[in-house]
Amino acid sequence: MTDPVYRRVVIKLSGEYLAGQQGFGIDQPTMDRVADDLIAARQLGCEVAVVIGGGNIFRGVEVSSRGVSRPTGDTMGMLATMMNCLALEATIERKGTPARALSAFVMPEVSELFTRAAAHKYLAEGRILLLGGGTGNPFFTTDTTAVLRAAEIGAQAVLKATNVDGVYSADPKKDPSATRFDRLTHSQAIEGGYKVMDATAFALARETSLPIIVFSIAEPGSIGAILRGVGHGTVVAG
Ligand code: UDP
Repeated sequence: MTDPVYRRVVIKLSGEYLAGQQGFGIDQPTMDRVADDLIAARQLGCEVAVVIGGGNIFRGVEVSSRGVSRPTGDTMGMLATMMNCLALEATIERKGTPARALSAFVMPEVSELFTRAAAHKYLAEGRILLLGGGTGNPFFTTDTTAVLRAAEIGAQAVLKATNVDGVYSADPKKDPSATRFDRLTHSQAIEGGYKVMDATAFALARETSLPIIVFSIAEPGSIGAILRGVGHGTVVAG
């Protein structure tokens, strides 16, 4: 088995994916499959931190269009990411691998607060880290959180696990003429306005010189393949 290309990574998992076919909430078989992939990635010898979205439960912008203020809606969205974190932590630990959820908010009865010191400690213990609560601020996304946390904990790359196998010129599910990129610079990703990740996330990655690899989570084992440098994804770097 090839050694991993990266020593430490942050993996961004969309909340939407965790809903499986049911479209809302947590589909446990999907959660189990993702947990297996994360455990296999950890077993390659790579330190793994995961930032989870909350789109399977709440998105601030959607709630706010129904009469709740955007900051309140975003807070609901951030709390939703924490629910996903707790569910994934429980799933990974049930399989016998140590994990630890850390929150961007002070909520001592629920989870320890994210600090760099705590993250380093738990990664050194071999735990899979689950980082919930987004950045802790409204108007941001969990994509931006993934880049922020990667920069904070000295990860070498952000792995953006999504429903498509890379960055396309348009949504390949809607536009058959969409072309796929193998490689893009951060600036090209921002200028192209590609929907796969928000511009704030790409801009912070450019600022902090962090590569982002966009790949499909639908294929079992895809996280491990990316970590071994044999996966299929778009590399956004330099
Ligand atoms: N969110 C936020 N600040 C953050 C991260 C997330 O306000 O730093 C809120 C925002 O409302 C967002 C929701 O949490 O819609 C869920 O996150 P996201 O949409 O990134 O989840 P995903 O689409 O990846 O499931």
